[in-house]
Amino acid sequence: MQATGSRAIVIGAGFGGLALAIRLQSAGISTTILEKRDKPGGRAYVYEKDGFTFDGGPTVITDPDALRELWDLSGRSIDDYVTLMPVSPFYQLCWEDGTRFDYVNDQDELARQIEALSPRDVAGYERFMKYSEDVYREGYLKLGTVPFLDFKSMMKAAPQLVRVGAYRSVYSKVASFIENDYLRQAFSFHTLLVGGNPFDTSSIYALIHALERRGGVWWAKGGTGALVKGMVKLFEDLGGTIRTSAEVEQLITAGDRITGVRVAGEVLEADLVASNGDVVHTYDKLLGGTRRGKSYAKALKRKRFSMSLFVTYFGLKGKPENLRHHMILFGNRYRGLIDDIFKTDKLSDDFSLYLHAPSVTDPTLAPEGHSTYYVLSPVPHLGTADIDWEAEAPRYRDRIFDYLEKHHIPDLRKRLVTSHMLTPHGFRDDLNSHLGSAFSVEPILTQSAWFRPHNRDDVIRNLYIVGAGTHPGAGIPGVVGSAKATAGLMIEHARAEAPA
Ligand SMILES: Cc1cc2nc3c(=O)[nH]c(=O)nc-3n(C[C@H](O)[C@H](O)[C@H](O)COP(=O)(O)OP(=O)(O)OC[C@H]3O[C@@H](n4cnc5c(N)ncnc54)[C@H](O)[C@@H]3O)c2cc1C
Repeated sequence: MQATGSRAIVIGAGFGGLALAIRLQSAGISTTILEKRDKPGGRAYVYEKDGFTFDGGPTVITDPDALRELWDLSGRSIDDYVTLMPVSPFYQLCWEDGTRFDYVNDQDELARQIEALSPRDVAGYERFMKYSEDVYREGYLKLGTVPFLDFKSMMKAAPQLVRVGAYRSVYSKVASFIENDYLRQAFSFHTLLVGGNPFDTSSIYALIHALERRGGVWWAKGGTGALVKGMVKLFEDLGGTIRTSAEVEQLITAGDRITGVRVAGEVLEADLVASNGDVVHTYDKLLGGTRRGKSYAKALKRKRFSMSLFVTYFGLKGKPENLRHHMILFGNRYRGLIDDIFKTDKLSDDFSLYLHAPSVTDPTLAPEGHSTYYVLSPVPHLGTADIDWEAEAPRYRDRIFDYLEKHHIPDLRKRLVTSHMLTPHGFRDDLNSHLGSAFSVEPILTQSAWFRPHNRDDVIRNLYIVGAGTHPGAGIPGVVGSAKATAGLMIEHARAEAPA
């Protein structure tokens, strides 16, 4: 690709920042990534402890084609950088009365399991699947990578959004097709994986079901960290530069342009700047000295933010027994617990958990004869419940371990070799995340598309946003989609300013 002469800086090496930087570098824009932490990945940071490798965040890889596209841009192949392995079942869903549901991609097997739980819901599921396919086409394929910069673009999309009932919640839509309580949970919990309350998140997000059924659920051999490494290698092979332990302190402006960024006392000049950091951090801290920064940070702080997470990473002696790679462990309360997480200022006595047992698929993450896990519990963010996590974390971890010993890993503590915890304070302090939110701006309809922070700033002409805080939103497919939307704008900008 022809060099444009433009220099771009991307602040942050999360999936969105990396995907954007690859697109810019592939288009001939000389790009530097500046990352605060000592390693790239952002929420996909990798913790290494006592010989165990723990993926810190994302583990469920969906829409592999969106990732492949990043290599295709420069005529390379993802297969030369990363090995993607299919995971089946996608998830095993477990309830406390012993009911288990293997969420598989085989239509007959899925129908057989639905019938076993509720024969009347087999036909309802088929109608739900058609609905999910419909919103996948309208919401993901048509709108997922389109930047909503003005209200006109929102009005253009409005008829489709009204037709698919986007004003309803995912749960209410699922409940209109399916009667059984467990199946309603099984087909609505996905919004929690992108920070959304299934009772509030727009039914557009029902598309996740079709996304998984069409593209499958994948695992990168060596862990999600291996996928991050593959993206970094691709970026560097294209000639890009990445600097870690390089926290940007300030965006330097002149009128309605950014001229450079201040990092560790040094000023780096840039023609185009994109922030993959938290949106409130970007406006409040990095642009805090400007009118635009102050006013937009104030507006952003009035938005609703997604919940936080409490994650315990642990390594055990021995192999996983009677476990699947991805397990959702539902507690007895569904709506009540979710209400507590999103709306109340306390930690509930019960929980619903996601248990990640990658050693089921991939032995490379633990020493010989051992296995690697993490268990994740959605918890309120620090604006909803300002919990003293330093004191609470060990107690909360013990309650979760008690639960796992009772229901799934009876001898967990006897086999325990190592553990590590991530609390809402970690999201706040390590990732500069507003209120310690795990997924940024909450994905409700009134905070989606044009109503979400835009992929290009409205005032500062060469400032762009990428990642979970902008359109379309959180999750790897979301932020990789945001990179496509943002890159389109930045490449157009660079070409318009390139010398003739
Ligand atoms: C525990 C967990 C599990 C998840 N599981 C899944 C899953 O299975 N599948 C899925 O698709 N999604 C999952 N998600 C969601 C997904 O991981 C995120 O939505 C996505 O990775 C966010 O990417 P991002 O591009 O917004 O950047 P982030 O990952 O948020 O990275 C932003 C980067 O910017 C850096 N930064 C911030 N401020 C500065 C600064 N001033 N200077 C320099 N650098 C800065 C940060 O250090 C960070 O590295 C999960 C999230 C979490 C937390």
